Amino acid sequence: SRSAFGASVAGGRRAFFGWLTGAAKEKKASLMHREDGSLIPMLESPIPGVQKLAQQYAAHGQGCGNCRHPLIYSCPKSGFPSHCCEVCYNEDKTHQDYAPKLREVYADLVDLRSGRKFPEFEFPGPPAHEWQRSELLNWRAYLSDRRFNGQDSVIGNARTEEELEREAQSIRHISSVFTFPLTIAHAIYWAKVLGDPSRLDQKKDEEGNKLPWRIA
Ligand SMILES: [Zn+2]
Ligand SMILES: [Zn+2]
Repeated sequence: SRSAFGASVAGGRRAFFGWLTGAAKEKKASLMHREDGSLIPMLESPIPGVQKLAQQYAAHGQGCGNCRHPLIYSCPKSGFPSHCCEVCYNEDKTHQDYAPKLREVYADLVDLRSGRKFPEFEFPGPPAHEWQRSELLNWRAYLSDRRFNGQDSVIGNARTEEELEREAQSIRHISSVFTFPLTIAHAIYWAKVLGDPSRLDQKKDEEGNKLPWRIA
């Protein structure tokens, strides 16, 4: 709520910086990694919700192409149950292309269930002034303009590689919540300007330059 956000601006914001320190960081890592540093397959996740999703994926996924065996082999890079066996895994050359993205999906699922605090979901209220309008060109710019919280700080403040990685994760969490409502709000706003929401591809800025019609 707005009052909650107001309070966090006054007092709590600095507390967001580096709150995930030492033990908490280690605990979060241990939800995905064994003591030897290897990735825990999703099917063996200590988080029941993640394990269940992996079981559903293994039952319905078709990672092996033509082969119709259940996916009981877990990719060591992504943690996903990706193939029926190691032979199929090694023969699949395309899997390596999207393994990093799957690894990211796995990390996001774990993060959402890690029990950490989620300053991301303490949303800012409406803009302080009617004239404050933020363009929906990309998520980072939009969430930074509107002063949404990431897990360490306000979105847009990340500098180090590690901070940028966590900020990107926060942006993925927030954008997954806002994609639909913001798409509708965006269409309503531009429908007023363009007279017809089906003409969203004809958006122009004040100088008459064409604006991208999708949020990146
Ligand atoms: Zn994989
Ligand atoms: Zn197979």
